[in-house]
Amino acid sequence: MRMIDPHAHMFSRTTDDYENMAVAGIECVVEPAFWLGLNRRYAETFFDYFNHITTFEPQRAAKRGIKHYCTIGCNPKETEDLKLFQDVLAGMPEYLDRDSAIGIGEIGLNDMTPNEETALIMQLELAKKRGCPVLIHSPHNNKLEGTLRILDILKEAGNDPELVDVDHCTEETIKHVKDRGYWSGITMYPRTKCTPQRARDMLERFGTDRMLINSSCDWEWSDPLAVPKCVRLMLMTGFSREEASRVAFENPRRFLSASPKFKLA
Ligand SMILES: [Zn+2]
Repeated sequence: MRMIDPHAHMFSRTTDDYENMAVAGIECVVEPAFWLGLNRRYAETFFDYFNHITTFEPQRAAKRGIKHYCTIGCNPKETEDLKLFQDVLAGMPEYLDRDSAIGIGEIGLNDMTPNEETALIMQLELAKKRGCPVLIHSPHNNKLEGTLRILDILKEAGNDPELVDVDHCTEETIKHVKDRGYWSGITMYPRTKCTPQRARDMLERFGTDRMLINSSCDWEWSDPLAVPKCVRLMLMTGFSREEASRVAFENPRRFLSASPKFKLA
């Protein structure tokens, strides 16, 4: 089955991971810009990172037969210093213009501070201006409250729901996200957040329409094969091939195709 992992931080992964993902059937990954574990101190450090994920990673992926796209953005964990954030924001267009940069993300809320909200609104504004897909990070603590706040901000900002993936959804947030017309992402971070089994159960409960699944694999305990593992489990436990293919391939393809730069053979 053809698969896309629409949220994978390959910057932090090895070449073996790319190899295993390709063998398992993943033909495309999207790498959202993210927090590297330590706050950056200079706008230029962000720019080097944006440069890396728009040049080196697509090449590294292509050698294993995987198509690599990215999104550019400033994660809420790094928006407390608003002056630094604004310098980063001012430099983003150069990277967003690159061939493999198909959208903005991951942006969102983490601790729900006023500065996080300001940075989110400014980046949503940029996304609206460019008409590109947006990948939203919802907070891991106070999940429901944070997600509802994000949904209110999105509504006020007026971004087209078809272009927005609200990620890291759970049983308590999926319905809210879907009801308002956004894409709902389930992140499988098996050790600490969500196993393929739990993702599968959410898909059974909420359906496969407007749902995306991803590994969000990075430098923490995470699994670059989470998407194929979930697909395998779905097929073994009552889902049709069509349903599995919808969440693992058709849905992300449709969401990402909102960018004219996104092309799969
Ligand atoms: Zn992420």
